[in-house]
Amino acid sequence: MNDPYKQWQVPERVARLKDLVYNLWWSWHPEARALFKEIDRNLWRTTYHNPVLLLQSSLPRLHQLAADEGFLSRYDSVIRIFDEYLEDQYTWFARKYPQAKGKRVAYFSAEFGVHNSLRIYSGGLGILAGDHCKTASDLGVPLVGLGFMYPQGYVQQRISVDGWQQNVYEQIDWSVSPIRPVMTPSGDNFLMNFNLGPLNLQVAVWEIVVGRVRLFLMDTHVEGNSAQDREISGRLYGGDRTMRLRQEILLGIGGVRLLRALNIPAEHYHVNEGHSAFMFLELVREAVAAGKSFEDAARDVAGRSVFTTHTPVEAGHDVFSEGLVTEYFNRYWSELGLGQEQFLELGRVPGQAGWNMTSLALKMSGQRNGVSKRHGIVSRHMWTKLWPEKKEDDVPIGHVTNGVHLSTWLQQDLGWTFFKYLGRDWPEKQDDVAVWAQVAGIPDEEIWRAHMRNKEELFKLLRDRARDRWISRNAEASQLLTQGALLDPQALTIGFARRFAGYKRATLILRDLARLKGLLLDHWRPIQLVFAGKSHPADDSGKALIQQIYHLAKDPSFGGRIVFVEDYDMHVARYFVQGCDLWLNNPLAPLEACGTSGIKAAVNGVPSLSVLDGWWEEGYNGVNGWAIGASGGRGSGDAADAADAEDIYQTLEKKIVPLFYERGPDGIPHGWIKVMKESIKTVAPRFCGNRMVKDYVKMFYGPEAAPQAASARTTAQVGI
Ligand SMILES: *Cc1c(COP(=O)(O)O)cnc(C)c1O
Repeated sequence: MNDPYKQWQVPERVARLKDLVYNLWWSWHPEARALFKEIDRNLWRTTYHNPVLLLQSSLPRLHQLAADEGFLSRYDSVIRIFDEYLEDQYTWFARKYPQAKGKRVAYFSAEFGVHNSLRIYSGGLGILAGDHCKTASDLGVPLVGLGFMYPQGYVQQRISVDGWQQNVYEQIDWSVSPIRPVMTPSGDNFLMNFNLGPLNLQVAVWEIVVGRVRLFLMDTHVEGNSAQDREISGRLYGGDRTMRLRQEILLGIGGVRLLRALNIPAEHYHVNEGHSAFMFLELVREAVAAGKSFEDAARDVAGRSVFTTHTPVEAGHDVFSEGLVTEYFNRYWSELGLGQEQFLELGRVPGQAGWNMTSLALKMSGQRNGVSKRHGIVSRHMWTKLWPEKKEDDVPIGHVTNGVHLSTWLQQDLGWTFFKYLGRDWPEKQDDVAVWAQVAGIPDEEIWRAHMRNKEELFKLLRDRARDRWISRNAEASQLLTQGALLDPQALTIGFARRFAGYKRATLILRDLARLKGLLLDHWRPIQLVFAGKSHPADDSGKALIQQIYHLAKDPSFGGRIVFVEDYDMHVARYFVQGCDLWLNNPLAPLEACGTSGIKAAVNGVPSLSVLDGWWEEGYNGVNGWAIGASGGRGSGDAADAADAEDIYQTLEKKIVPLFYERGPDGIPHGWIKVMKESIKTVAPRFCGNRMVKDYVKMFYGPEAAPQAASARTTAQVGI
């Protein structure tokens, strides 16, 4: 691995472009994106907004621009804003906690979704981690991320002619991605030796810079490692149980060792989902090696750590056989000062076989949280078995409801509109309800014009993709219709985009096809449905749901008004949450721990029609969107599906469709825009990234939280 940054020649006058492209700061600053677009608009589009690739392919053009006064003044201004951001000494964190300067949080996550040019995330969990890092950077929270670089990333999705998901893996070309290898001072690739039980391998390390935050990602695809060991970091969520265990050992234990090897001190530790929970053991091992007893060491580690659990779905919690765990840890446990039984007990759940990573994390962390108020309640119920002496309400798991990084997800024009009506400092005050109250004062025409432009952008993206496929002779004509070639920008457009996991019930709205057809083909007031999402590569039942939708999308009798968009990722997600009219979410409650796509949509003025689960149970106020099954309906099985589907049809027929198509003399749907404004106004301040990260700082990693004795924490203290 070479460092392309070093080898890369850029004209001297614009040399700072190199720093700019290697800091993902550009991804949430429109001025920087505009600069890249100016370099080569078409390349910007065809590289899917990857400025490293763009710049490397534009050398002659850069020589031209280095003599272009207009470009240079915009370049200078972006570099000035960039430097000011990086050097800012008066961030929220610095002002509020001057005494905590440099007290770093080490944030462990198996995936990070920072930008679509780095495909090392699968879905909500990773994107939350990415949003957390960006927000921490904005607020000045000293945070460092630890994770994996997956040379083949997560699965890419192609849909075959008969609607079956094809799993495509492509080796990522790091030389054209916003990522750099960590090097030693003498200019060699930095390598870490990792030994644990039968594992003995070399680990290379990559760095991604996200504003002020740095992510260090481990990679085992290194010469000298066996073929099997190279696969450890090969793919996100690939491989069998043994591979998964090896990954998680490296992530947790290797992550701590990497911090030490890079000489990066950390004060607090945040375990984002159970995958990295082995981290706790390594911290304890260090303290035991320094002379502490296991109990003292564990208490100390608990006092500095927080664990966030992300799902009530059983399959989302990793369980390994005790035999397998023993194979890897049979020398390690004595280094913890434990015997085999005591050690295995850490991963046990009463009444279940095996070693459970969530159990380990819950037992070893001092602070624990779910990701919405309801998920906190569900998690306390789910894990009461670990605290048999406590009443369910007293199980020490609280909640911090997820938020989204507004500058990443908000459509740019809407952001400018907010500057005009909410004040230049709305981004810093994004968690202030009073700031958003001013949304009421934005003229309806302005909101509507911005929205219609977003919708046109979404349809253009879909048409462009279909056209590319057509030109490459890679698709039949009927397949292009499934991609959205016939979509109508005037029609009410309903978005449904998320992973195809069973509990999300993607096909619920297809339950009564005759009734749905009536809505889709209504001559004056049609609706159209736009789906996207991947199934886990090994999940055939998820793939079967995709196929069902795909067949309808191809069926001429639905008039091209049902669409399935391939390869859902952050790029597609942005266009979706900005360009649909309505966001549909119908999971089987209470299995959606939070759900964040609906938040992204809501802040763009795209209200939800959603089951009251996850964030929507907190966010819904009766006028900022619509609830499914509001009058009870908490069951499961066919009867619950039928009731929820009926509710969806009724709400669409009686409320949503009429409101959307009710136009004033100016052609603008003022009643609908009222809901859009309510949605922005009520959701943005409560579900933005700043609110979320400030909660984590206040409760877990700021000075206010630090003195709390870990084991003394109860739910009452963890912000219910
Ligand atoms: C936001 C997002 C998700 C998570 O959405 P949910 O509503 O939690 O299912 C998944 N994938 C992508 C690409 C996203 O942007």
